[in-house]
Amino acid sequence: PKQRFAGKTAIITGAGSGIGRATAIKMAREGANIALFDLVNERTADVERKLNQIRKGCALAVDVDTSNPERMEAAVKKTVEHFGGLDIVFANAGINGSIGPIEELSIEDWQRTLNVNLTGTFLSLKYTIPHMKSKGKGSIIITSSINGNRRFASFGFSPYSTTKAGQVAFAKMAALELAKFKIRVNVVSPGAISTNIDQSTEPTEELESIVIPIEFPEGQQPLADGPGKPEDVANLVSFLASDESSHITGAHIVIDGAESLL
Ligand code: NAD
Repeated sequence: PKQRFAGKTAIITGAGSGIGRATAIKMAREGANIALFDLVNERTADVERKLNQIRKGCALAVDVDTSNPERMEAAVKKTVEHFGGLDIVFANAGINGSIGPIEELSIEDWQRTLNVNLTGTFLSLKYTIPHMKSKGKGSIIITSSINGNRRFASFGFSPYSTTKAGQVAFAKMAALELAKFKIRVNVVSPGAISTNIDQSTEPTEELESIVIPIEFPEGQQPLADGPGKPEDVANLVSFLASDESSHITGAHIVIDGAESLL
């Protein structure tokens, strides 16, 4: 494979599974050193082993909850000390979180989803930006979703959809703020992708009481028979992380096989 990331270091959050995992494998094959940020140790250790088979010493698994400020600050510090710098941040960790009718969601349900998906994204930028500024260059990619931006028919997903819309606004603000430092910020919105994300869904008991007002062909994609693959998103994210996209910032790119056009 081409070596677009030779000598570069990337932080990937949610690297233990799905889209983050596929992106870590792709970028390692193309020469990157990668800090794998995730909560789930065993899965992340597997990815670390796989990457070290691709190139010895290129991976560092870091056990961190992206929504925890102290842990995130320490994890970024550890990464930069270990690899000697930072060039790419993929703020990708996310959960479906609690789903249910709005009046049945507890404040804890609501805040947990916001903490992981929104605050986790904020912290992923907050602690990494100084390191890219000192290099005079950087690329940040954020994983949003079509859910909350292009389609609104996942009933019960109001906290999730809110965070996914918020990430797009945050990415655009960050792109403007960081342009003069040559740090690019882009946001990708996948449609349905085959990953473990459903394990992060916490339905409330009252879910059955949601009245679904219209029939919606959830997860259908005109371009494919089923959902997309994590590798599809990894290809896009790698392009945005690389110098091939050097004039692209503040862009919101949908990758959904036309699902959101249905
Ligand atoms: P996944 O569950 O397979 O992987 C997500 C990873 O993030 C997991 O390994 C999980 O342990 C980790 N994670 C969750 N909370 C964390 C936290 N607080 N701190 C650190 N790590 C944490 O799911 P995925 O589909 O690969 O999800 C990646 C991103 O893609 C998410 O932001 C999700 O919202 C987004 N997305 C997914 C789909 C889809 O259909 N799979 C569609 C659109 C957007």
